[in-house]
Amino acid sequence: MLKLLGMSQTNLYLYSALSKVPYLNSYKGKIMLIAFLGTHVPLLSLLIYFVISASFPIDIKVRVIAIALIATLTGTALTLYALHNLLAPVTLTFLAMRHYLNNRQLSSLPTNFTDEAGILMADTFHTLKKLDEVIEHIANYDNLTGLPNRILFDNRLQEIISQNQNNQLFTVIYLSLDRLKNINNVLGYEIGNLVLRSAGQTLTSCLSNHEILARLESNKFAIIQTNIKSVDEVVELVEKIINKLTKSVSINNNEIFNSVSIGISIYPNDRTEIDSILDNAVKAMDRAKAQGQNKYQFYSRELNKKLQERLMLEKDLHNAIKNGEMLLHYQPQVCLRTGKIIGVEALLRWYSPIHGFVSPAKFIPIAEETGLIISIGEWVLHTACAQNRSWQLAGLPLIKMAVNISSRQFKEQNLVEIATQVLQQTGLKANYLELEITESLIIDNIQQVINTMNQLHDMGISLSLDDFGTGYSSLNHLKRLPIDLLKIDQSFVRELTIGSDDAAIVKAIISLAHNLQLSVIAEGVETEAQLDYLRRNGCDQIQGYYISRPVTAEALVKQLQQEKEVSCNINNLAVAA
Ligand code: C2E
Ligand code: MG
Ligand code: MG
Repeated sequence: MLKLLGMSQTNLYLYSALSKVPYLNSYKGKIMLIAFLGTHVPLLSLLIYFVISASFPIDIKVRVIAIALIATLTGTALTLYALHNLLAPVTLTFLAMRHYLNNRQLSSLPTNFTDEAGILMADTFHTLKKLDEVIEHIANYDNLTGLPNRILFDNRLQEIISQNQNNQLFTVIYLSLDRLKNINNVLGYEIGNLVLRSAGQTLTSCLSNHEILARLESNKFAIIQTNIKSVDEVVELVEKIINKLTKSVSINNNEIFNSVSIGISIYPNDRTEIDSILDNAVKAMDRAKAQGQNKYQFYSRELNKKLQERLMLEKDLHNAIKNGEMLLHYQPQVCLRTGKIIGVEALLRWYSPIHGFVSPAKFIPIAEETGLIISIGEWVLHTACAQNRSWQLAGLPLIKMAVNISSRQFKEQNLVEIATQVLQQTGLKANYLELEITESLIIDNIQQVINTMNQLHDMGISLSLDDFGTGYSSLNHLKRLPIDLLKIDQSFVRELTIGSDDAAIVKAIISLAHNLQLSVIAEGVETEAQLDYLRRNGCDQIQGYYISRPVTAEALVKQLQQEKEVSCNINNLAVAA
């Protein structure tokens, strides 16, 4: 029998009797009816008394009954109005409950009242909220690992896609734990479940706030990685996952090794349709699985190939200096007035036993991205300065050594300190060193760049702006920088035929540089006609295959020794012009 806190079901007799009254469906209606009847008892008593009593004249009877009627109706109206408002907590609770059951939407109810009706509202609200959380959790989370399930994963993916108006890079990484079936068969489902749970924890530990991890089905997990700038970040994450996930774990005294196959689909890089982004990751995972254990594959084969190549280069680049695979070549820079070699540019060469000759255009960007440029750059600076000093000690003509400095080197390392150290160690004077920087360096953090440049300049080191004309340096910046030399980019020199746009540009750069009291060097000079044009337009120096390709230190020594001959050739040309 239902017993509620000391009240028995028999207490429902009035409620149950009223429920049988036709058209009296609402609870509020029942209370109102009782209140109405209750407030009319005095009026009815008065009526009966007047009717049976004969001692009052009729007009008095009518007046008294009219007054009593008005008073009763007014009192009843006020009582019904007050009751209507007092019953609001019950009505609100009822509506909130209905709304939740019909629409699964939680309405808020006041929780600050402490009487029975107030507590009813508060308790209903808290209970519904808890219930909602539980339902939400059951619907969206995987029971075993506590991770989001397929439903939540799909929702999040849709959300990310719809918010991704700017086509920002994001990836879907699909993972399959390949040994789970075996583990289940050999060690049983219980251990299999523990392996899955532990894998979920390991995966979570690899991720940051920008990644969403879900368990999609039995041994399949997926990650959405947002906010990525380059494919490198994806590779980094995937390698971290393979590393961590394939370490042995001890579960109930069993040493267990996981193996994982990973497929990656990148949006919008793979030109993937949004709907198929997960399917493509699955396809890539199948390819990874076919390659063996613990492999990952990108959906795009092109990207895979490039990446493999790049990863190989990156791996070997790490040891290139230590293994003595790198050396410097030197390309002469000639003064057009005297025809003499007044400097050389040190250009890095990598001869890898595996990849053969690798162009700096290919490996310098990798060195920059990986940060290897810091140590490589320091080695270049040191080797170039030491080389120049040794030429000086050998009695060869005094020339400047130009060294390329990448923007990462300029920003990340304490370049001033390193340059000071290198000059000290090699014994080269600062005025025989020139640092080449590119325009892209100047774009951001201009003040810090200017400070560093000023310090280098104050030490006596010359500074030149490489590849001038291809970047974005404003004239305003040019005026503020302690630059000594502008290097006209070879793309302008290449097309240098009289009357071309490039001829006009080169001419303009030369006059601009001279107006700013800067010297100008043209790089990539390959023909006599180019040299001729440059000389006639007042260019100060040239560098290019016409004079010499970049050569080894030994070959350069020979050139320096033949200095006079070169100078004669150039002077002859001058006479001819
Ligand atoms: P860069 O500093 O503008 O160097 C000039 C490039 O033009 C060199 O290419 C040089 O070999 C090439 N070159 C010179 N004269 C001619 C010519 O007449 N015709 C043609 N077609 N090319 C000519 P390289 O050696 O392949 O270097 C490419 C780039 O790699 C360099 O451009 C520089 O930005 C970078 N680099 C090279 N060595 C270093 C280094 O030690 N450190 C850093 N940070 N970057 C370096
Ligand atoms: Mg250069
Ligand atoms: Mg250049």
